[in-house]
Amino acid sequence: MSKDSVRVTFLGGLGEIGRNCCAIEQDGRIVVVDAGLMFPEPNMYGVDLILPDFRWLIERKDRVDAIVLTHGHEDHTGALRYLVKDINVPIYGAALTLGFAKHRLTEARVGHDLSFIEVADGEKRKIGPFEIEFIPVTHSVPSAHALAFHTKIGIIVHSGDFKLDLTPIDGRRTDISRLAALGDEGVALLLCDSTNAEEPGFTASERSVGGALRRLFLERPKKRIVVACFASHIHRVQQIINVALEQNRKIALLGRSMDVNVKLARKLNLLHVDTADFVDIANIDRYEPGEVCVICTGSQGEPLAALSKLSRGDARDFTVGADDTIILSSHPIPGNEWSVGRLIDDLHRAGTEVIHSGHEPVHASGHARQGELRTYHQLLRPRNFVPVHGEYRHLVHHAELAESMGLRHEHILICEDGDQVEVSDAGIRLSGQIPAGFHYIDGSAGDLDEKPLEERRMLAEYGVLQISAGIDRERGVIVQPVRITTRGWFEGENDKKLLDAVTDTVRDSIQNALSEGDRDEGSINKVAQRAAGRILGQKYRRQPVLLPAIVVL
Ligand SMILES: [Zn+2]
Ligand SMILES: [Zn+2]
Repeated sequence: MSKDSVRVTFLGGLGEIGRNCCAIEQDGRIVVVDAGLMFPEPNMYGVDLILPDFRWLIERKDRVDAIVLTHGHEDHTGALRYLVKDINVPIYGAALTLGFAKHRLTEARVGHDLSFIEVADGEKRKIGPFEIEFIPVTHSVPSAHALAFHTKIGIIVHSGDFKLDLTPIDGRRTDISRLAALGDEGVALLLCDSTNAEEPGFTASERSVGGALRRLFLERPKKRIVVACFASHIHRVQQIINVALEQNRKIALLGRSMDVNVKLARKLNLLHVDTADFVDIANIDRYEPGEVCVICTGSQGEPLAALSKLSRGDARDFTVGADDTIILSSHPIPGNEWSVGRLIDDLHRAGTEVIHSGHEPVHASGHARQGELRTYHQLLRPRNFVPVHGEYRHLVHHAELAESMGLRHEHILICEDGDQVEVSDAGIRLSGQIPAGFHYIDGSAGDLDEKPLEERRMLAEYGVLQISAGIDRERGVIVQPVRITTRGWFEGENDKKLLDAVTDTVRDSIQNALSEGDRDEGSINKVAQRAAGRILGQKYRRQPVLLPAIVVL
């Protein structure tokens, strides 16, 4: 690494929405920005979480000075509980961000010896080799920050997740004038949120959701209204509470994380509601439907969350039916569409009315669209740009947008996870690559690599096939006939024919091996496995997991 450059290593979040993490490095010292997780796709069987591959960081842990958090979402803080087992450095962030993160660390029983350092809006701190400035931005969680790293090659701005909401619920706007001032000083590198880079126009203000909710509540004075949203979306919760109280409804909270987050936000004075306005969810049946509003978690169809339990009639304290209206105040995260669809179906089955963002404006994104991104680029006028936080197409669209704003092609780099870039007075260049594959976590089994996951896919798709037989070593003959047992097969007429063919092939291959004098159990099992694999793959295009169990007696 050259002496007059600053290096940025992308550990996650470039090519996917989730597991955001990067390392910014000057003179051998490293500051980590965010440590997020990602939720698995449906075909990642048994995978609960996906983390960045932290090995590169852990190998350099003596050079890491701090972890800086932009905001409290899981895709930015959810991997901390794994990272801090190896790297114990101060963690910086806003009070709410740290509060959310600490809660998850406590739940996971790690990090009790960590030091957390709260930062205020606009504060500048000397952290590691940098001075880092925490610039307030609007997003779908309060207290989000953009970061300005003052480095020896100039200012590096990391946008964090943001939108330019000019009428936020708490009045805390993105500090546009500070961003413009940084632009005047000169920004050497911009790393900017690309989530909505494909979407034209401007993202609606969070406040617009309040208006939609108010109308929907007014139209349903006799219904019990259950609103589901992210538990971290404190401004959404505030708006639901405001609308409910206006219409003389009491508030009941459902779901553990909703309880915890509401408590923390009230303590930090970020959520305003009197204790007297709440009722215990266990007592909800004492009220007429039109007298209460339930706020719950599970808007993504998570099977263990409150709303899914409600939809299946498994919730402890109440059931939903024709007297209820459920509002999903959210939008499914990519990958969750199917489970949200099932959830909505189950609720309909219970006779419940369901309102979602597909037909009513009950959700507003927390991420900037093209109009806001253009504004951001115009404010900062960076010398170099790397789009971050997005799937690959989002990064490409964001790069095109930057070019259309006048930045020259050679100053824009589309990077992916594992890429390292160096920025100097000369510009920006790709300087290296580190391993940055998905790190899968299976809650019951621990860490997984690709191999068991691939086997699980094969099991799911093709089932398993066991081959058993017994061989007499002395005589070199099969004494217990070749038998095939399957799991996950239909075993209809076609399968039967196929299995007969496999049995014949396997028997022939074993007999061949025996006639050549082979008596080794391991090698005969391999011969049988290979023969079965070949005929199944080549002739029938199937790849079940093969379990040979042939014994030589
Ligand atoms: Zn976020
Ligand atoms: Zn994010």
